[in-house]
Amino acid sequence: MRRAAPSGRLRGVSERLQHFEADPYRDTDGILRVVREGLCHRCGACVGFCPVGTYATKAGYPDPVNDCIHCNICVGVCSGLAVDYPAIGKALLGPDYAFGGLLGTTRGAWLAHASDPDIRSRGASGGVVTAILVHWLKTGFIKGALVTVGDPDEPSMGRGIIARTPEDVLRAAQSRYTTAPSLAALLEIRDEDGPFAAVGLPCQIHALRKRQLVDPRWARRVPYTIGLFCHYNLPWETTKLTGAMLAPRGEKVTHVRFRQRDERGWPASTYEFTFSGGSTWRSPHASSPTFNVLSRVSPLGRCLMCMDGAAEFSDFAIGDPWIRGKDGEWKYHSVEGDSTIVPHTEQGARLVDALRSADALDLRPLPVAEIAEGQHAMLTEKKARVAFRLRVRRRLGLPVPRYPMPLPATTAKQRRKDILFLLTRLNSFSRAWQQLLLRIGLGPIGVFLVNRRIAKRKRLAAQGKVHLSASDYGDATEK
Ligand SMILES: Cc1cc2nc3c(=O)[nH]c(=O)nc-3n(C[C@H](O)[C@H](O)[C@H](O)COP(=O)(O)OP(=O)(O)OC[C@H]3O[C@@H](n4cnc5c(N)ncnc54)[C@H](O)[C@@H]3O)c2cc1C
Ligand code: SF4
Ligand code: SF4
Ligand code: SF4
Repeated sequence: MRRAAPSGRLRGVSERLQHFEADPYRDTDGILRVVREGLCHRCGACVGFCPVGTYATKAGYPDPVNDCIHCNICVGVCSGLAVDYPAIGKALLGPDYAFGGLLGTTRGAWLAHASDPDIRSRGASGGVVTAILVHWLKTGFIKGALVTVGDPDEPSMGRGIIARTPEDVLRAAQSRYTTAPSLAALLEIRDEDGPFAAVGLPCQIHALRKRQLVDPRWARRVPYTIGLFCHYNLPWETTKLTGAMLAPRGEKVTHVRFRQRDERGWPASTYEFTFSGGSTWRSPHASSPTFNVLSRVSPLGRCLMCMDGAAEFSDFAIGDPWIRGKDGEWKYHSVEGDSTIVPHTEQGARLVDALRSADALDLRPLPVAEIAEGQHAMLTEKKARVAFRLRVRRRLGLPVPRYPMPLPATTAKQRRKDILFLLTRLNSFSRAWQQLLLRIGLGPIGVFLVNRRIAKRKRLAAQGKVHLSASDYGDATEK
């Protein structure tokens, strides 16, 4: 006897079930498929949210070590596989949310630094993230916070910890431009009441929001999120390769500092490797150009398909003041360092307001447009040029993240620029070639080329001829 076709709501449920059955991305196998297809950015969410601890992390990727109960939570949170901007945006930012805008939804902008000079000097830019978390912990506003520290087992990589004391938070200060499956640390608090805060890159915030959308316990447990601006991250393998190449014979890398504050002051921090014999190697470039050199030999993978540079779904996002003045110099240059704060949610705006009356930070308002203009090249890459890459990959039948919204248009000029950009990133095919380029980039020729490029940017900015990303992460876009 034929079964009657379900009707009304039941039909909807049945269709969704059929869709679910047919979806190749399910449970552990689905997650492993995400990894195989190059969609994993190694955020650690599938590890941290799995209710039965199926995964450990291996080289930053999920590695199944226990049985799976087929709840599909891991696939549900995976922001490498899918980010439903409209769904998250409407739930978080209100029914009028629409995908688009270089910075997402903004509620003002601030230039800020930690009031405590010690915290300020330890931070990547103005020590703002650290100062806020220390303040929140000391005042009992939060019980702890998810932060990223260096991995003691693999110094080239980062890892998440739940910081419960100001000392833990201080340990996490600085940017780690490397793979960090930080959300795996959420396993530690899965049965704990909050409130906790979480600091994360945009993709990490996406995963957390995805879980919070379907499980309000996670929204209550981690009610505060601090995002970091992010152009892209470097795979830890590049840092490892660089350290191994620079290490004295027979020695290992014991410590990596990606942004060691030095006497030159912001933004000229140093990349630094420490070796087992006690010696250190300091990059001849400032931190950002070193990052740029390493990025030339890095397979950037999923980061090249990422559409969020401003942590649009965090309560507020923190970045560097990459803003040039009319003379081509940094407009908000201070040797001690400053950060920018962009509140995205209403709660984020309230939190920043409350911080104004606390003594943890020195803040002053900034026009939002200056941040968009300063990081224009990075932000337009994230929207228009990434949209171009996604269209091309779809046409070629290559895996792409699921973004269920219309993608932004791309101009012919942006397409040309992107093709050139991608061609210059095809340098990771051979280890020997990578090492040769690293030696050149980190040696006197690299210093000469970087200095020439920076001088050209300053000149063009002073002549008003370019929109600058104003950072050494990005490119200048001619008007
Ligand atoms: C990979 C990466 C790319 C970035 N790209 C840009 C950019 O293009 N433009 C821009 O303006 N800013 C960018 N930033 C942010 C910038 O480098 C600073 O982190 C930011 O200005 C905050 O500085 P702070 O002194 O206030 O923070 P600090 O007080 O130094 O605190 C930094 C916090 O960052 C967290 N953290 C460090 N590394 C990681 C990581 N790998 N994953 C998750 N959390 C981490 C730590 O938990 C720490 O709490 C990037 C950061 C990273 C990690
Ligand atoms: S138990 Fe659930 S979250 Fe864990 S691996 Fe299996 S499907 Fe994924
Ligand atoms: S992107 Fe994150 S959630 Fe997805 S597979 Fe990779 S580590 Fe897991
Ligand atoms: S570029 Fe995107 S995917 Fe890559 S680390 Fe940054 S936020 Fe994550």
